[in-house]
Amino acid sequence: MERCVILNVDDYLPGRYARTKVLRQAGFEVVEARNGAETLEMAQLHKPALILLDVNLPDKNGFEVCREVRALPDLSTTTVLHVSASSIMPQHQVHGLDSGADGYLVEPLEPSVLVATINAHLRIRRAEAALRRSNEGLEEFAFVISHDLQEPLRNIGIYTQLMANHLNPHMDEQARMYEKYVRSGVTRMQNLIQDLLQFSRLVREENEREGSADMGTVLDRVLDNMKPMIETEKAMITRDPLPIVLGDEILLEQVLRNLLSNSLKYRKPDIAPEIHVSATRSGRSWTISLRDNGIGFDPKFAERIFVLFQRLHGPEYSGTGVGLAICKRIVEKSGGRIWADSTPEVGSTFYFNLMDASDVEAPGAGIV
Ligand code: ADP
Repeated sequence: MERCVILNVDDYLPGRYARTKVLRQAGFEVVEARNGAETLEMAQLHKPALILLDVNLPDKNGFEVCREVRALPDLSTTTVLHVSASSIMPQHQVHGLDSGADGYLVEPLEPSVLVATINAHLRIRRAEAALRRSNEGLEEFAFVISHDLQEPLRNIGIYTQLMANHLNPHMDEQARMYEKYVRSGVTRMQNLIQDLLQFSRLVREENEREGSADMGTVLDRVLDNMKPMIETEKAMITRDPLPIVLGDEILLEQVLRNLLSNSLKYRKPDIAPEIHVSATRSGRSWTISLRDNGIGFDPKFAERIFVLFQRLHGPEYSGTGVGLAICKRIVEKSGGRIWADSTPEVGSTFYFNLMDASDVEAPGAGIV
């Protein structure tokens, strides 16, 4: 059983004492802090599974302490429950939860309810940890497998070519066809492995929300790189002004490139592609969208297409089914969400939202 330390934070001695007593009686190991500075110190020292965090502390408010705890190494997944007898209005609770707390308890609190609430949160925490471990195992497996498959596959490609050169004068039509199939299978597998490796690298890399990205400049670069394809497809691309958002420019460039190349690939055969890129703001968040007039898809598959290897269209459209999974991973790493909407034979729109880079800290401050 996991060692379970609870950090009980309250500047009011009788309240802190009573809570610690209840928790110890319920079998928890309890450490205490009286203010924000001590909370950060004790949290780093004891790595508690859960922090019961008073909202009104003498040196800083509990919401701020919660954010600082979350930013500490190893403590981003610690469960934080605010407890307060004075900041009990709905707006306090909403602000506490929006600022990152997992729960908000209002005093007076029945001891048995406190213990049951803590146990319920610890159950979720254990389930999350098990899921995380299992995902990490799978991701590691995907990385190792795709990496190790490259070498034998390269050999199959090289030796098929050598064998074909060697037998060339004696090869009949059928043998040439078999050779072609082997080579196209190798190429397809190489593309799959490349995409899978790229996907698992994204999973393994820790960096999240690196810096800010000027999406207008990012789109300029994408359009520049894809100019030959855009010209070949005779596509008409229009755009609204795009914002500066929180995220890594290189990664977000990949998102726009994948979405744009899909809009060109899944075009209607007889109509030139028309693609419009736009951005709308809602509070602190921007939704960037890319609308096309392509073949579209059944909207009931709108979530499935973001899953690794899921494809809706047949082999007449080249692809590995990894592109949108990469987009989803990047957008989620940047703190946003990606989704799609489509009408078959009319077209599709892909949306993703990201935080505006100019006012990350501002709203909601100073509510206590
Ligand atoms: P790939 O294009 O390599 O198959 P993706 O992960 O980029 O993989 O896309 C997954 C699937 O979603 C595609 O196979 C296709 O069926 C569908 N899809 C993606 N973008 C579009 C689009 N713009 N229009 C219609 N279908 C699309």
